[in-house]
Amino acid sequence: MMKDYALKSYAYNKQVRIYVASSTHLVEEARRIHHTWPTASAAFGRVLTVSAMMGMMYKEEETLTIRVKGDGPIGSILVEANAKGEVRGEIVNPNVYIVYDEGPKKGKLNVGAAVGQGFIHITKDLKMRDYFTSSSEIQTGEIGDDFTYYFAMSEQTPSSVGVGVLVNPDQTIRAAGGYILQLMPDVGEDVIQQIESLIPTLPPMSTLIDQGKTPEDILHILANGTEQILEKKDITYLCHCSKEGFAKSLSTLDDQSLHDIIHEDGQAEIECHFCHTKYHFSKDELSHILENKNNKS
Ligand code: ZN
Repeated sequence: MMKDYALKSYAYNKQVRIYVASSTHLVEEARRIHHTWPTASAAFGRVLTVSAMMGMMYKEEETLTIRVKGDGPIGSILVEANAKGEVRGEIVNPNVYIVYDEGPKKGKLNVGAAVGQGFIHITKDLKMRDYFTSSSEIQTGEIGDDFTYYFAMSEQTPSSVGVGVLVNPDQTIRAAGGYILQLMPDVGEDVIQQIESLIPTLPPMSTLIDQGKTPEDILHILANGTEQILEKKDITYLCHCSKEGFAKSLSTLDDQSLHDIIHEDGQAEIECHFCHTKYHFSKDELSHILENKNNKS
């Protein structure tokens, strides 16, 4: 199976920008770590895929945090992404498996119901000692529609977002991918019309990936042959947590709390929310953190 990667491209004589990603391994890694059930895998996977593409909109050191806070059974999804193609995330309730009971989508994963109503919040850390947060209302909870709305409302960029995750009968991830298409301010009416007639004819992204289409193939369809690829980047589910990082977090606790942990529990075990790696701190290590903290202050 092909490696996960994303493309950034111009199209239609630079009047349109298109991002396309294949993300099957990334979403499978997220499923394996968080033990997501199919509908949760689809929702989480879609957000992770959009995030990986959005990461390509930023500079090397910049990061973004995306929160999809719906009132559905999944609870909220939080994803962090960066310009290096790395994403990691957490999901409040991974054990959600809801399908449509009736209608044309009968039997398919009901991502909208699993996510529910609420808001998307996106925080950009542009490393200028400043954070920018923007929010928009969840439309259908199907994620693609919600990000389309987000780009239009919060970033004033007319866009089309398509993402999909296909789950195997054994609940592993069969195929995942997506695209973000954005109109540049100078886009011509003829180009808008071409795109408006093309988008509804597109098969679901997960179907295209499952058929073996590469991001280049999908880009070619979206760009109607006018693509000019600017960047190709591997995308991965990756967490950079470390014991040193958690030691630093522990040192931000007040003395009394640390003292209580040392004398009541005699140890601490901290689990990373993003990768579920467990870090153990012995009594000695905790005492050392408490001492160091007081030496500094
Ligand atoms: Zn981690």
